[in-house]
Amino acid sequence: MIHFVGAGPGAEDLITVRGQKMIEEADVIIYAGSLVNPGLLKYAKEGCKIYNSAFMTLEEVIEVMIQAEKKSQMTVRLHTGDPCLYGAIREQMDILDEKNILYDSCPGVSSFCGAAAALNLEYTLPDVSQSVVITRTEGKTPVPERESIASFAKHRATMVLFLSTGLLAKLTEQLICGGYEPDTPAAIVYKATWPEEETHICTIETLEETAKSHGIRKTALIIVGDVVSHNHYQRSKLYDPTFTTEYRKGTE
Ligand code: SAH
Repeated sequence: MIHFVGAGPGAEDLITVRGQKMIEEADVIIYAGSLVNPGLLKYAKEGCKIYNSAFMTLEEVIEVMIQAEKKSQMTVRLHTGDPCLYGAIREQMDILDEKNILYDSCPGVSSFCGAAAALNLEYTLPDVSQSVVITRTEGKTPVPERESIASFAKHRATMVLFLSTGLLAKLTEQLICGGYEPDTPAAIVYKATWPEEETHICTIETLEETAKSHGIRKTALIIVGDVVSHNHYQRSKLYDPTFTTEYRKGTE
């Protein structure tokens, strides 16, 4: 069987307990070497075959899985963060379906959660934003027209941008064109939860120069929205003394 496992955002101890156990039991591990922390491979048992998918095509990845299945071995396909975001897992699963090979998924901590932790940030502050838009700027992979950055910007909700660090001038232009004020707070989080993590608070307008001045070109997330400055927000109802909940009687 094949187990798609989320490796977490970087720090070795941010994989789930289940994910770590799967690594310990695997006969074969195929890990996304461009972003998965290789330190996680120390949990692999002796004799486990390890492949770095950064050097492989989809066909080569599948071939390794097929060969392992033939020997009734257990394969872990280790993806960065949570495999459900930009993980290219569907194309693997569809081929496995065709070949009647069973698989399942083990979630991981996505880097957008790691980035919030790095900034001690709450993406959903009452009265500021109650939604998080997870998207990317268009690069080699096209983004459907109806999902343009400008169209999302109209909502002025919290936005987290993956895979966009090399396209910051274009991003700024589209965010402003869509409706964010140029001085809207933004943050760049480089290698969230890794030892070399960096966080930089800036504004939409200064995204490109901030990244440039710190030499950040990849492995970063861009966070946009007023939650970054968290100056004005309402207290939660849940912990308001006057508010009655299922578990607690309010004072009024
Ligand atoms: N499935 C992954 C995302 C894979 S796409 C997840 O859930 O996090 C790869 C992109 O994710 C990178 O280009 C970068 O934008 C972002 N990324 C991954 N790990 C990161 C980290 N530790 N810190 C900041 N950004 C990260």
